[in-house]
Amino acid sequence: MIDLQEVILEKDHLIPFLRKLHKEARLIAPVTNEYGDTLFTEIEDIDKQTIDLKRQPQSSLKDFFLPQQETLAHYTNDDNGYVFTPPSPPQETIYFGVRSCDLTALLYMDLIFSKPSKDASYYARRNSSLIITLGCNDPFDNCFCEATNSGPYLEYGYGLQFVDLGKSYYVSAGRRRGADLLKKWSYFFREVTKEDQDRRYQLFLEARGRFSRNIQVSHACRKLQNEDVDETIWEKLAGRCYDCGGCAYVCPTCTCFSVDDLAIDETSGIRVRSWDACTSSGFTRMAGNHNPTDRSRHALKRRFLHKLKYDFQEHGKASCTGCGRCVDICFGGVDITTFIKLFTRETS
Ligand code: SF4
Ligand code: SF4
Repeated sequence: MIDLQEVILEKDHLIPFLRKLHKEARLIAPVTNEYGDTLFTEIEDIDKQTIDLKRQPQSSLKDFFLPQQETLAHYTNDDNGYVFTPPSPPQETIYFGVRSCDLTALLYMDLIFSKPSKDASYYARRNSSLIITLGCNDPFDNCFCEATNSGPYLEYGYGLQFVDLGKSYYVSAGRRRGADLLKKWSYFFREVTKEDQDRRYQLFLEARGRFSRNIQVSHACRKLQNEDVDETIWEKLAGRCYDCGGCAYVCPTCTCFSVDDLAIDETSGIRVRSWDACTSSGFTRMAGNHNPTDRSRHALKRRFLHKLKYDFQEHGKASCTGCGRCVDICFGGVDITTFIKLFTRETS
């Protein structure tokens, strides 16, 4: 009897397996488009679109679970007052090829959107999702998930976790819905052998040894609990930040948003949620154009202290998953790793 918590999927069987899943749910996976951008994309036809598991998607799952702009409700207003109607429930969706850092970010978003009560839109999407991750055997140049305990492989949180063994995938079931899939489509899989287990472990060790960046995330988090950051560090960072918001928008754990009611006519409208960024000067600007924070000194203070100090206090770990996207995108070179390096050097 084959153990359906851990199985092997030969690579030849991957597309037929995904084809079966796609018949029952929307399928989202990384695809490289004609401009060379790798993005999580809805797969319409699995035989015509090529899933790209070699490159890191530039976008994260945040784009789906907290869309850049979404309608939270339609409203009408008549003599009886306001009536809010939420959008239709989301489709069942399977996300395939998700990296460990991005699932860790989603687990963090689960916490954020569960307080003070569960966010209806977020949890409607989350409860109709299944995440299939891909362990990272070859970390990308700017990644540091090992320093944030977010990879290269995961121990929980996924529906299924794939690890590339070369000619096959080592597939582990995490949550019940993942285990159900293995049971339902068991004829695609074969039993794990001792050789497969050894190979997986070997690949894990090799992946851990491949990180080229040594970022002292835990050290920075602990230091921030007891020590203030020297003002010259904030000034140095602010002087090179151009207020583009890129770091917050690509970050899978940046969840600031604003909500606006937009009138359609005199008696109806929509309530819209849109991304915001605490790095932006407009974030603290008040009516009358007064801004109580001095952006020329503190542009990035909120962002870095939130991730490394306050979330560490509240959740016991930083809300940076080491995905490296802010490193890739910041043309001022003042991403979170720059701050960590400056701060740990100052205070160690
Ligand atoms: S830190 Fe870099 S990416 Fe972020 S807003 Fe400033 S310039 Fe843009
Ligand atoms: S702060 Fe940067 S490295 Fe950390 S999760 Fe956000 S984008 Fe990724």
